[in-house]
Amino acid sequence: MKNVAILGSTGSIGKQALDVVRSHPDRFALYGVSAHSSEEAFLALLRTTRPRRAVFSRPLSETVPGVALSYGVQALCDLAADPQVDVVVLAISGIAALVPLLSALKAGKRVAIANKESLVCGGDLVKEALQQGGGELLPVDSEQSAIFQCLQNGRREEVQKLILTASGGPFFRQPREELRDITPEQAVKHPTWSMGRKISLDSATLMNKGLEVMEAARLFDFPGEKIDVLIHPQSIVHSMVAYRDGTVMANLSNADMRLPIQYAMTWPERIPSPARPLNLWEQPDLSFFKPDMARFPAIKMAYDCLKAGGGCPVVYNGANERAAELFFQGRLGFLEIEDSVAYALDRFQNRPMGDLDDILLVDGEARRLVDEFQTTRSKA
Ligand code: NDP
Ligand code: MG
Repeated sequence: MKNVAILGSTGSIGKQALDVVRSHPDRFALYGVSAHSSEEAFLALLRTTRPRRAVFSRPLSETVPGVALSYGVQALCDLAADPQVDVVVLAISGIAALVPLLSALKAGKRVAIANKESLVCGGDLVKEALQQGGGELLPVDSEQSAIFQCLQNGRREEVQKLILTASGGPFFRQPREELRDITPEQAVKHPTWSMGRKISLDSATLMNKGLEVMEAARLFDFPGEKIDVLIHPQSIVHSMVAYRDGTVMANLSNADMRLPIQYAMTWPERIPSPARPLNLWEQPDLSFFKPDMARFPAIKMAYDCLKAGGGCPVVYNGANERAAELFFQGRLGFLEIEDSVAYALDRFQNRPMGDLDDILLVDGEARRLVDEFQTTRSKA
């Protein structure tokens, strides 16, 4: 029996992780959950699931019998490192996941990680925490889970390329000039996946694929030159690994995040899952396109950030997080998201990242640069 803590339990991944835990009562027990702002939904979840521990960002208006409640970032870290916890599902969105991630890894936990922002920003700190605590980091992001699985078929030196597939988002076929007036409602309608608001927007801007290029580099320790992006609108092939003999290993399934969530929790075992089996004969043609980097500057910038190293990946992420907030508030246009990230990267004085404070400082700097972009362009 494994005790599970789901951090970010009210979100899209968090709810699907709960579903996985519920489908295997013989293997998993829900020990702890956390949430940030959805008080009603969180209280309802506590009443129905009765975990031992629950962490919210601020005091809740009610208590729930049998559930020990605590508040704030330190409490989140304590839950992530709780000696009773075996598996931490990290389903918080944004860089806010970095601090609890480090805490879980230092305590030697298995972390099933959906959050990519923390991997992109955390860099060497994540690696050090992993070594220090002797924990395990298992990817949940569908592309990274696919690569992780395909990598089990060969040796590291035999790998020629990691091939990340990308649906291309909802506007893949639209000319760029038509994208200027895209609204938040249009931007979050993803063609193949149902996800949280921020990652849906990231998929539409292709910033998500940029983050994933850096995430793959961090997780599997390959340089940007060994990572390719391939557009595949149907999201059936989740990613691939090309080997030096010309063999390509691919991972296929229906688009259902419960599959990679569960695999990260049970690896190296595979057990039945609640996901619908894939019937390839039901699929329309599976198609693949080489992305045009001129059309997708978000991906090009990510490769540049990976190469530059230092604080650049942190700026890419922080600027994008802030730009996404401003877009949802109606203060930035759709194409201005990537423009503001480019603006922040242009003005940032790159330097090596030492500790957590360095990272958080640069994250703040990136956000301020995006605000500067927004004010100067609204005056223009
Ligand atoms: P959601 O927005 O649906 O959920 C985010 C969760 O994190 C919520 O429980 C939210 O709590 C909590 N949260 C938000 N901000 C904070 C904070 N500052 N401190 C603590 N908790 C916080 O996101 P998703 O589930 O879509 O995505 C989560 C992560 O997984 C992201 O990093 C995303 O990139 C990644 N991912 C998601 C996929 C998906 O299919 N959704 C696929 C692959 C990766 P509350 O609701 O109470 O505010
Ligand atoms: Mg993904």
